[in-house]
Amino acid sequence: MKLTSGSIVIINLLALQYFPVLCLSQDFDFFYFVLQWPGSYCDTKQRCCYPKTGKPSADFGIHGLWPNYNDGGYPSNCDPDSRFDKSEISSLIGKLEKEWPTLSCPSNDGVKFWTHEWLKHGTCSESELDQREYFEAALQLKQKANLLQALTSAGIKPNDEFYELEEIEDAIRQAVGFTPGIECNVDSSRNSQLYQVYLCVDTSGSDFIKCPLLPRAKCGSRIQFPKF
Ligand code: 5GP
Ligand code: 5GP
Repeated sequence: MKLTSGSIVIINLLALQYFPVLCLSQDFDFFYFVLQWPGSYCDTKQRCCYPKTGKPSADFGIHGLWPNYNDGGYPSNCDPDSRFDKSEISSLIGKLEKEWPTLSCPSNDGVKFWTHEWLKHGTCSESELDQREYFEAALQLKQKANLLQALTSAGIKPNDEFYELEEIEDAIRQAVGFTPGIECNVDSSRNSQLYQVYLCVDTSGSDFIKCPLLPRAKCGSRIQFPKF
C-alpha cells in the first residue's frame, strides 16, 4: 500500500493521541520483595546501629519492594517531584518501625530508610501504588510470607548453626509457593551467612509469583543463620 503524506500525518496524530496512555500504563514487569536478616547485617564488617525505637525483634525486616524488569534491569528514582510525606502514612508508622526497622548508623528513627526506598524504588511503581498503598503492600507481603515461621517450622533456626542452602530454599518454597532468591554476606570469620531473601510479586503488589529471574546468589552450599 502506498502511503500518501496525508495518511502519514493522520497516523502520526493517532500515535500522539495514544502515546500518553502508553506512558502512564504500568512500566515495570514485577516486584522484588526483599527481606533482610538483622543478625547478618550486623555481623558484616560494617557496623550496625539499632533504631531510636530500640533493638528490633529477632525477625526478618523489610528492605524494600523494588520494581524490576524481566531482563534483570530496573528503574530507579522515577519521580523527581515526589517527596516522602510522613502524614500520608501516619497510621502505619508503628508497624513500619516494627516490620521495616533501619539498622544503618548513626541510629535514627527509620524515616531516612523509608524515604530512600520510596524515592529510589517506590516512585517507579506510582502507576500502580501511591505512597500509602506502597507501604501497606510491603507490610501485607511481610505478613503473608511469614518467613521466620516458614524456616523455624522446618527446623531452621537463627542459632548460629549452618544449614544447606537447598533446605532453606525448600522451606520457603513450601510456605510461599515459589523458589526464593537467597543473598549471602560474609562475616569477619569468612562465614557465608543468610542475609537477604528475594520473593517476586505481581505488579499490583499483592501476590507472590514465580520469579522471572532470580538474583545471582553469592552463597556457599552451607550457610550460617546467625543469632540476633
Ligand atoms: P547491592 O549492590 O548492594 O546488591 O544493591 C544496592 C542497591 O541497588 C539495592 O539496595 C537496591 O536499591 C538496588 N538493587 C540491587 N539489585 C537490584 C535488583 O535486582 N533490582 C532492583 N530493583 N534494585 C536492585
Ligand atoms: P538500597 O539502595 O540498597 O535499597 O538501600 C540501601 C540504603 O538504605 C543505603 O543507603 C543504606 O545505608 C540505607 N539503609 C538504612 N537502613 C538500612 C538497613 O537496615 N538495611 C539496609 N540494607 N540499608 C539500610
